[in-house]
Parts: sequence; C-alpha cells; structure tokens
Amino acid sequence: MTQVTPGATYRGRLAPSPTGYLHLGHARTFWIAQQRAQANGGVLVLRNEDLDATRFKLEFVSAMLEDLGWFGFAWQEGPDCGGPFGPYNQSERREFYLAAMRKLLAGGFIYPCTCSRSDVRRALAAPHQGEDEPVYPGTCRAKYKAGGKEGSFDPESTSGSPHKRNWRFRVPDGEVIAFEDGACGPQQFIAGKDFGDFVVWRHDGVPAYQLSVVVDDAAMQITEVVRGADLLPSTARQLLLYRALGAPAPQFYHCPLMTDEKGVRLAKRHDSLSLRRLRAEGNSPAQLRARW
Ligand code: GLU
Repeated sequence: MTQVTPGATYRGRLAPSPTGYLHLGHARTFWIAQQRAQANGGVLVLRNEDLDATRFKLEFVSAMLEDLGWFGFAWQEGPDCGGPFGPYNQSERREFYLAAMRKLLAGGFIYPCTCSRSDVRRALAAPHQGEDEPVYPGTCRAKYKAGGKEGSFDPESTSGSPHKRNWRFRVPDGEVIAFEDGACGPQQFIAGKDFGDFVVWRHDGVPAYQLSVVVDDAAMQITEVVRGADLLPSTARQLLLYRALGAPAPQFYHCPLMTDEKGVRLAKRHDSLSLRRLRAEGNSPAQLRARW
C-alpha cells in the first residue's frame, strides 16, 4: 500500500463524535495524538464527526469544544477556527463523500445491497470494541460481478424509496492486509475472513464511518492517525479504501484502550469518568493525567 511520504509536515487529528460527553479514555488517546503532533513539530486538526444525526446532539458539540479546551488541547485547524482544509464538520462535507462514491463506482469497487442487517444500522459510527460488523455473506455481491454494471449511485433519489439500497465495498477475498502500527507493531488481517464487504453508504443517504473517515483523512492530508486499538480491524478496511481511491494512506498509531475497574472499555455511558463530571468534582487536568 502507498503510504504518505516520510518527511512531509506532520499532520495529526482529533476526530471526536458528538454523541455524548468526552471521557477520560478519549482524553488519553487525544493527549497522545497531541503529544505526537507537538513532538514532530506538526499541526493538529480537530474534526467534528457529526454525521450520525440520530445520535448526535448540538449541545455535545459545544461541550466537546469546551472540555477539550479545559483539558489543555489546542488545535490549529478546526470547526471553531477554520483552516485550509475545511469545512471541519463532517455534516458539511457531503460533496467530498459523494465524489469518492462516484470514483468507487466507476472503478467497480462497490455494489448496492438490499439486505437489511443490523451492521448497516451500525455503520455510521466507528466500530469500537465488540461492535465490529459481522462478515457479510455476500448475498447481493453475487448479483454484481467485480467491474460489472452496478447501476447508478444517486443517494438523493433512493432515499425514502421502497427500493432502498445500501452500498458495500467488495473486499479482495483472501488478500492479506498488512501494516506496521506505530504503537502495536506489525498487523495483519485477511480480507473476506477477518472482515467482509463493508458498508460505505447507507440507504438513508448517509456515508458510513469507514468511508467518511478515509475521505477526510486523505483530503485533510493527515500523515498519522492516532486512535484506540479497537479500530485496528477498521484500519485494514480503510487501507483498501485508500488504495481504491488512489490516495496515499497515513501512518497509524493505535493506543491501548483505557478500561474501567471491570476491564470494560470506557464508553460515553461511563458518566462517572466524563471530563465534565471529573471537572465538577474538582479534579484538575494535571491530576487526571497523573492517573494514567
Ligand atoms: N469519530 C470516530 C470515533 O469517535 C473516530 C474514529 C477514528 O479516529 O477514526 O470513534
């Protein structure tokens, strides 16, 4: 896989989804992202991943900006301060996702799927630990030969129609997707076995996480993606998307996940560890950092 040229100015990103209050686990991963950007004399981008209109709430966006600022994060590009690669709210980047879909369609990489499955429902959000989509059995794939005629992609006309179609990326079965992770070392996933044809666009006209994150990281010229280790299998899928779109892939650095006392990954439902709550309880960012 082509990766971005070493030596290019380091560009990192924080990519929170405003679906709840940020917690200590986010802060730790983001802190590592910020430290790596600073250590490399680079730029840190804040991208608001607000595509999931069913779960996202406007109040979480302002809370997110406030909590990040309080904790000591500083970004050079973002929804609040702009920058050369904007807009930085995903909800305003639809044209980028549509252009990528047209490219994937022209290259014969995607096909429409009429199966109604729960992985389609979930595809909007990044699949964190225990949420990875099951390997798609290929029911609709068989109807469309690779490189064949899949019909047109028109999210506006299909939305709300009885012939709703999701779009899936056809993975090269058996191909080993290998990459070197900056934190976790060498990684290897087998397409078609560790993950199957994944959703890139939902029947309700919303781009899926795997597509939007690749399109944006590429367009914003991110050189290193820092995020939680539960997204390693997503990275394998994303590398296929970079290749199909003819975009160089960034480097990856997946941080170990922060867990609660029972060993469960921190999620937005862990209100007791939300930055809001911890702050209200009188903790300072420095005290919180000392805890990890
Ligand atoms: N918005 C995604 C999340 O909150 C970003 C995942 C990623 O860093 O790619 O999980």
